[in-house]
Amino acid sequence: MKVIISSNSGYCSGVKRAIKTLDNAINEYGSKGNIFTLGDIIHNPKVIQDYKKRGIFPIEDINKLKTGDNLVIRSHGVSPAVIRELKDKGVNVLDATCLFVLKVHGLAKDLNNRGYFIVLIGEKNHPEVIGIKGNISGENYKIVNCVNEAEKINSQKKIAIISQTTQTKENFILISKKIVEKIKDEVLVINTTCKAAQLRQNETAELAGKVDVMLIIGGKNSANTTYLAEISKNILHETYHIENAGDLNKEWFNGKKTAGICSGASTPQEDVNDIRRIIESI
Ligand code: SF4
Repeated sequence: MKVIISSNSGYCSGVKRAIKTLDNAINEYGSKGNIFTLGDIIHNPKVIQDYKKRGIFPIEDINKLKTGDNLVIRSHGVSPAVIRELKDKGVNVLDATCLFVLKVHGLAKDLNNRGYFIVLIGEKNHPEVIGIKGNISGENYKIVNCVNEAEKINSQKKIAIISQTTQTKENFILISKKIVEKIKDEVLVINTTCKAAQLRQNETAELAGKVDVMLIIGGKNSANTTYLAEISKNILHETYHIENAGDLNKEWFNGKKTAGICSGASTPQEDVNDIRRIIESI
């Protein structure tokens, strides 16, 4: 079996930063046993398990933290109000929010100050979206994830459109186009999709068009990996979203000559290489 791995596999820069921040925290405070991450540090069950074995646990509720605890904020980021609350409690905040996500926070704040009604393209319950909307005052925003939701936008104010970083460019363009067509007043469109995520999406589409079977590796709860799987599935029916080598099924490769592998931004390169070796031996 010939295996082709997309050139942008392994961790993205934001995930590398989050892991490095956590590892540095373990080196500095590890022996005290009071390091936590706000939610899973990355969307990868194996990596989370490894950290748990080292005594690092994710927490969802910041009320469980006490003064002196250390908390790593993952690449998705949180709202400024959450950071303030943590600091008021005396928690040592180690902020590993991805720099691209931080840029969207700054934009949301600035657009809000300039009087725009903000349309945020993304998933309502995604932590990144929750963090970004925390920079917008009151109800001065709408979160939309499809054209049908965009149809309902009817603001009397000038509108600015931004997006969750891992949204696909296609969805961003479709929704923005709909709003521009519908709204007669000013609409400012700012493409805040992550270029690294975009590159992975483009490569996934390209690879899916060349091979007989595609594997998308990454957490089932990872937005960017799920988008990659959707993109690939639209092009190649024989697309399988797996989390690790244990999910592989040899029957997928019966009668196939080439397999493509793409990974989400939270998948370690070692996992990709391991899966490659297994498929090559089939
Ligand atoms: S996918 Fe892009 S925005 Fe998200 S963490 Fe990685 S580099 Fe940052």
